Amino acid sequence: MRVVVIGGGVAGSASAIALARIGADVTVYEAYPDPAGPTGSYVSLAVNGLRALDALGCLEAVQQAGFPVARQLMWSGRGRLLGDAARGRRPDDSLHSVTLMRADLVTALRTEALRAGARIVTGERLTGPADPRAADADLVVGADGIWSATRQQLDPSAPKPRYAGIYYVSGTSEQSRVRVPVSRQGFNWIFARHGVFIYLPAPGGAIWWTAQVATPAPPPDPAAVNVADLAELFRAEEQAVAVLRAASGIRTANIGHVLAPVTRRQSGSTVLIGDAAHPVGAGQGASIAMEDAVVLARQLADVDTVTAGLAAFDAARQPRAGKLAKIETANRDAKVAGPVATRMREVIMPHVFNRFYEKATGWLYDFEPGQLPAR
Ligand SMILES: Cc1cc2nc3c(=O)[nH]c(=O)nc-3n(C[C@H](O)[C@H](O)[C@H](O)COP(=O)(O)OP(=O)(O)OC[C@H]3O[C@@H](n4cnc5c(N)ncnc54)[C@H](O)[C@@H]3O)c2cc1C
Repeated sequence: MRVVVIGGGVAGSASAIALARIGADVTVYEAYPDPAGPTGSYVSLAVNGLRALDALGCLEAVQQAGFPVARQLMWSGRGRLLGDAARGRRPDDSLHSVTLMRADLVTALRTEALRAGARIVTGERLTGPADPRAADADLVVGADGIWSATRQQLDPSAPKPRYAGIYYVSGTSEQSRVRVPVSRQGFNWIFARHGVFIYLPAPGGAIWWTAQVATPAPPPDPAAVNVADLAELFRAEEQAVAVLRAASGIRTANIGHVLAPVTRRQSGSTVLIGDAAHPVGAGQGASIAMEDAVVLARQLADVDTVTAGLAAFDAARQPRAGKLAKIETANRDAKVAGPVATRMREVIMPHVFNRFYEKATGWLYDFEPGQLPAR
């Protein structure tokens, strides 16, 4: 089976490993010359994503490139602890969620893809499955992200991304320069007046943070958003402003986008995976993309034709991705909620969070993608 993968991000690199492992001849085309691509910040991988990485043979490399995060702490803007739960896992799971730079994740996946025998061509953008470079492939995998050209060629009336009402700015601070007491562990979420502020202590005395800013319109120039603007926006939240004042670096803002459900996800010889098919958002997208890769290869290995494999893949993945997309919408709505909803959350959350959180999220972490043939 000759496979062309369009896009060498998380989904594309992971599918290159998985498809090479079932014996396919795989070529990946990646538009950008460097592995970081357009989103150069950090990602946090829940245990379902880590199990997919294990099947791909990359778990150890990713654990070494990142650091484990055991807890997730939820705070009100006034510094009241609203909830404290296991991060990205059920509480009794000994595997801990890993946070690392997206570029390091993609590098680990690409290294393993090359080792598995795939070719990776960087700096080449394909127009979609009709591109001459994909012409003689038995299978085209559209792993080209939320702005997927493959999706548009599969179905010219496919939905297009639209602004989600939120943008993301990440950066780093120095723990030693933070002037008020802040949490020294875990993934900390502060529900703020203008969105959510996330920070997590990282090894070496750094703090990694993300300001998720809710606004009706995106910033006109994402590269111009600076720490002073953010400190002003989060001035009512003492922990957030203290972390921002100790900033040592900031990355260009990422504009959040949503996509209406994609109805045509495969054609019998072309398939969409990862954000191209179902962008589930900033909390689980990378994990779901890697799950997709493992399940796609397993389904193709089990049947005689590519057409049958893609139909089985789509049937297997859609219910999970659809359920997750609904949860992500609810999460986003919570981040862009107004002051009344924020106050209600402050009153209700301490009573319900710890009791209901595991019930609401456990199904997500329980997923087992299965094993691939050995290297
Ligand atoms: C700010 C932010 C924070 C996030 N945090 C998390 C997190 O903590 N945990 C998590 O699990 N997920 C997170 N996500 C989501 C996660 O990054 C995505 O869901 C995941 O990267 C999707 O992988 P993908 O390979 O499908 O798409 P992408 O990562 O977008 O990769 C697509 C690749 O295809 C290439 N490409 C596009 N078009 C073409 C073409 N025509 N020809 C060739 N190449 C092409 C692009 O250059 C890119 O490298 C976050 C996202 C954002 C924006």
